Amino acid sequence: MLNLDKSQAAFTEAKTLMPGGVNSPVRSYKSMDCDPPFIDHAKGSKIYDIDGNEYIDYIGSWGPMVVGHAHPQVVEALQKVTEKGTSYGAPTLLESDLAKLVMSVYPSIEKIRMVNSGTEATMSAIRAARGYTGREKFVKFIGCYHGHSDSLLVKAGSGAATFGVPDSPGVTKGTAQDTITVPYNDMAAIEQVITEQGNEIAAVIIEPVAGNMGLVLPKQGYLRRLREITEQHGIVLIFDEVMCGFRASLGGAQAAYGIVPDMTCLGKIIGGGLPVAAYGGKTEIMDMVAPAGPVYQAGTLSGNPLAMTAGIATLSILTAAPEEGQPDFSRVLTIKTKQLLLALQNAAKEAGIKIQLHQAGSMFGLFFNENPVYDYETSAASNQEAFKVYFKAMLEQGIYIAPSQFETLFMSGAHTSEDIAKTIEAAKIAFKAVAD
Ligand code: PLP
Repeated sequence: MLNLDKSQAAFTEAKTLMPGGVNSPVRSYKSMDCDPPFIDHAKGSKIYDIDGNEYIDYIGSWGPMVVGHAHPQVVEALQKVTEKGTSYGAPTLLESDLAKLVMSVYPSIEKIRMVNSGTEATMSAIRAARGYTGREKFVKFIGCYHGHSDSLLVKAGSGAATFGVPDSPGVTKGTAQDTITVPYNDMAAIEQVITEQGNEIAAVIIEPVAGNMGLVLPKQGYLRRLREITEQHGIVLIFDEVMCGFRASLGGAQAAYGIVPDMTCLGKIIGGGLPVAAYGGKTEIMDMVAPAGPVYQAGTLSGNPLAMTAGIATLSILTAAPEEGQPDFSRVLTIKTKQLLLALQNAAKEAGIKIQLHQAGSMFGLFFNENPVYDYETSAASNQEAFKVYFKAMLEQGIYIAPSQFETLFMSGAHTSEDIAKTIEAAKIAFKAVAD
């Protein structure tokens, strides 16, 4: 049995200080009916709690830690820049450096604005799209999560789905009525909405690879048709690649599926573990944003030098040319992830359990479900009790996975073949526990 005495004491105190003891809901493990380990430090593929337990980490701070924790290049760059001061609230060369790095991989982004969280990025992208089109409504997909701004907390995924509050109290009817929701992967549903209300719709926002109802992939041709129909009706197509950016492929889902959106939201990885996100896209839309245009958006700490530096260091590692004849960084992650999933599929089969395993580059997800999962409804039909048993058995064996089937897991450059072998052995035991 894991000894979590110190974590449990810390959690008891934290609950007197913060709602549910945490600063972001899923961290509380509430839906798993157990207490979370409190983390002391992390290095490479491992994370360590205050009781001294070591875990192989597939959460990676919910996505950002693609090069592994405390990567020496990132740490060194941060140490150096910190000596020059931690924030100026004034333009720096670092902001342009990160912008150029991002745009070199995302050519659909002609202009970019740095913000501090994915929530800000999606909220601001929609504001810009509304300003640009002069229309008020927008479409989101059921089970997609775009952060916690009011108008996007409608039929949301991630923690909102985990805790059964996809439509949060506190969001007014007035706000929610401009958000039109349709099922993911259902072409007929979005076609109908656009045919009927197209001239009132400013934007369609989508996770082109959805990671917040578990990992759900777009059906073949779905994104292409979405691109066509939005273009025909003058609707701004926003790809929220906060999670799948630099993961589904180096150039995100847009490169993997060959689609050019009008706007893109990025986050997580571009801050290398510090709070950064961004929105960007066509110049004519981005030039609506203040001070170039009238759509207001600002931030005291936006473009913060530490955050820019961590992002630059991380993206430099990701985009570095590989040695001759070797696969690049993203390809290596994809191969490692595939190896893990093949073994997990076999282990589940041996235990007599039917699961659905999904992969997009270095993202992966597992559903205890006999049937295909392609939208929120099919994802929610997965066996939550089986997942709970699996989750606890994995944690017990030092494998740190998200405490919800509605989350995605991530491979990093620091995961070794030994880590993967250990994970497979742990999964064999966990699947058996589920089967019993
Ligand atoms: N968009 C997507 C696709 C996300 O996965 C998330 C967070 O997980 C967000 C937006 C919100 O980002 P943040 O938590 O940085 O506000």
